[in-house]
Amino acid sequence: MIEAEYVAPSNLGELFKSIEGRAERVKFVAGCTNVLPDLRAQNPAPMLLVDLTGIEELRRIEENNGVISIGSLATMTELAASEIIRTHGPILASAARALGNPLTRNRATIGGNIADASPAADTAPPLLALEATIHTEGASHAKREIPVEEFFIGPNQTVLNQGELITRITFPIPKDPSASSHIKFGLRNAMAISVVSVAVVLEMQGNLCHRARIALGSVAPKPIRAYLTEKELEGRKITEEVLESCAEVVKKEISPITDIRASAQYREHVTGVLLKRALWQAAREGENSTNGNI
Ligand SMILES: Cc1cc2nc3c(=O)[nH]c(=O)nc-3n(C[C@H](O)[C@H](O)[C@H](O)COP(=O)(O)OP(=O)(O)OC[C@H]3O[C@@H](n4cnc5c(N)ncnc54)[C@H](O)[C@@H]3O)c2cc1C
Repeated sequence: MIEAEYVAPSNLGELFKSIEGRAERVKFVAGCTNVLPDLRAQNPAPMLLVDLTGIEELRRIEENNGVISIGSLATMTELAASEIIRTHGPILASAARALGNPLTRNRATIGGNIADASPAADTAPPLLALEATIHTEGASHAKREIPVEEFFIGPNQTVLNQGELITRITFPIPKDPSASSHIKFGLRNAMAISVVSVAVVLEMQGNLCHRARIALGSVAPKPIRAYLTEKELEGRKITEEVLESCAEVVKKEISPITDIRASAQYREHVTGVLLKRALWQAAREGENSTNGNI
C-alpha cells in the first residue's frame, strides 16, 4: 500500500510553502505516467505527493530574444503541436510525436521525461543537440541553471536534489543557417521505447559542416553527446567517406547494453546506420537552405 499526503498547489509560492522543511519526503507528480507504475512496483516510504498540474506558469512555451523557453509541465502533445517548437526546435517536436501513444503524449510532460532520466528518454537527445539548459528551483528558493549535458548522471539518476523542481527548459535558437534531424528507431512504429535514437544539429555553409552537435539515446547509461564524432565532422564536406568515418568514430563513444529490446552488437550497428542517415538528411536540408546565399 502507498502511504502519502497529497498537496496540489496552484502556484510556485504555494508549492514551496507546502514543502518547507519536508523536502526529503517530496515526490513531484506531473503527468504521472512514470510515477504511478513506479510506485506500484515499489514499496515506498510514506511521502508527500506534490501535484504540479495546477501550476499554470509551468506550462508556457515562449520565445524571447532568441531563446526558447519551455515550462516543465508542457506535454508531448503540446510540444508536437507548438508552432514555436516546430519552427525553432523541430527535432524536439519530432521526439515528442514519437513518444508512446496519443493517451501517453497527452499526459507525459517534458519535465517528467528528463527527471525520470531513462537512457531512452525521448526528449533527451534533441535537448542535448540543442544545447538546452535546465532551470530548477529548490526548497530554499535556490535557483540553478544546469546545462543538459551535466544533468544526467546515470540510469534514472540526475543532479537534482531532493525537493528540487525543474521549472523550465531553455535553448538558444540555432544559428542560421542550420539544419537538424531526429530519428528514433524502435521495434515497432508506435508505442516503442527506442532501441537507438539520434538527434543532430548542423551549422552548414553549403555542403561544408561548420559546427556539429550530435546526441544519442539508448546506447549508454545516460543520453550522451558524441563529442569525438562532432570533431570528426566539423570543417568537412559531408561525403559518403566522411559519413563512414563518423559511423566508425561514434562506436568508440557509446557503451550499449544487451536487454530485452536488442543486443549490444545490434545497437552498435544501428547507431552507425542511423547516424549516417540523420547527418545526410540534415546536410541536404542545410545545403538547400544555403543555396544561393554563398
Ligand atoms: C504506455 C507508456 C509508454 C511510454 N513510452 C515512452 C516512450 O516511448 N519514450 C519515453 O521517453 N518515455 C515513455 N514513457 C515514459 C513516460 O511517459 C515519460 O517519461 C513521460 O515524459 C514522463 O512524464 P510525466 O509527466 O508522466 O512524469 P511523472 O510520471 O509525473 O514523473 C516522472 C518523474 O519525474 C519527476 N518529476 C516530474 N516533473 C518534475 C519536475 N517538474 N521537476 C522535478 N521532477 C519532476 C517525478 O517526481 C518522477 O520521479 C512511457 C510511459 C508509458 C506509461
